Amino acid sequence: MSTDDKDFGFIDQALDKRKKGHRYRELHSYYPESEVIITHDDRTYINFCGNDYLGLSKHAKVIEKTKAFTEEYGAGSTASRLINGTFPIHEELEQKLADTFDSEDALLFNSGFQANSTILSTLADRHSLILADRLSHNSLLQGSLASRAQFRRFEHNSVVDLKDQLQRASDEDFERVFVVTESLFSMDGDKSDLEKISGLCSQYGAILYVDDAHAVGVYGESGLGLANGISDIDMVLGTCGKAFGSSGAFLLCSQKVKDYLINYCPGFIYTTAPPPAVVGSIMASLELIPELSDRRKALHSNAEKMRKEIRKAGFSTGESDSHIIPIIIGGEEETLALASHLEKNGILATAIRPPTVPEDSSRIRITLTSQHTENHLNMFLKKLGSWNG
Ligand SMILES: *Cc1c(COP(=O)(O)O)cnc(C)c1O
Repeated sequence: MSTDDKDFGFIDQALDKRKKGHRYRELHSYYPESEVIITHDDRTYINFCGNDYLGLSKHAKVIEKTKAFTEEYGAGSTASRLINGTFPIHEELEQKLADTFDSEDALLFNSGFQANSTILSTLADRHSLILADRLSHNSLLQGSLASRAQFRRFEHNSVVDLKDQLQRASDEDFERVFVVTESLFSMDGDKSDLEKISGLCSQYGAILYVDDAHAVGVYGESGLGLANGISDIDMVLGTCGKAFGSSGAFLLCSQKVKDYLINYCPGFIYTTAPPPAVVGSIMASLELIPELSDRRKALHSNAEKMRKEIRKAGFSTGESDSHIIPIIIGGEEETLALASHLEKNGILATAIRPPTVPEDSSRIRITLTSQHTENHLNMFLKKLGSWNG
């Protein structure tokens, strides 16, 4: 398709702006050799930016069930959930999710982005207020904006600011108030105080929605996440593209909320149901996760070692308290130079810059998995240490 005969000048201008700001983005393809080794253009890298925290994307049992469900049920689910796309395996998976997470009910979505953006916009309307942590994921922002609710942010992880804002809102005229946060933040690797936040929400009658994307599989008893077991969290969003090693997402909620979403949520209603392969891999990961405490232990010990050694090497890791570790450099150019130094040395780690993070807090962000070995970690530390930018 050609764009020659119409005026797409606005695209040229927008892309030029990105290029001038050195913020132009491009896709690169990587071949996943193993859980942590990837190749690109005949070069091999140790991957420090993936989200396959437990290595489940390559787990034999996960792959086996992915294949088995495809063979039995076909490649596609052939329709949306409300038409004929609900197979017995969809219902079985939702039941298993609810049972495992000890939730009244659960509802599957095709992706975390789709879930957050469509659930919030279905629950909130223009008579509502949404109070979201300042660093909430873009999908939560999209859902909030699409709802046409009043949208306000509270200071990152500040229970004090949240309380002030809830207090202020209680003197206003909102029909309902939602509080939205993540349990473990994807850019800083720090955690929210869910006990306190849920306590405040109960006190003020606000509905609490927690995105547990980076924590399910990894934290909490049996790897059931950071929101698990905390009372008065009304909805928890788990994603399957990260520690589950698959794709898709699930909402843990009451049966009432589930019924409401089945009836009113466009991102659930007007989309083809998750395919059998995905249902199979999520189900296999769900069965495995509670048993994987050895992998979780390895992951946490990798994370602890790296935070400690990176700080020892003179870098700030911010407030990170997890397997997501920012190495805060500050300036954009320096950060890009470090990312490129690492890349030249066979290490893939993402440079993250404004507007994704605030000005002067550009960083290299690394994510660890249970499958990184001592050798992989030492290689990273050695190459970081040899940078004299
Ligand atoms: C990755 C992520 C999502 C999106 O999930 P996908 O399944 O990848 O679409 C949502 N919220 C947070 C906090 C995430 O990190």
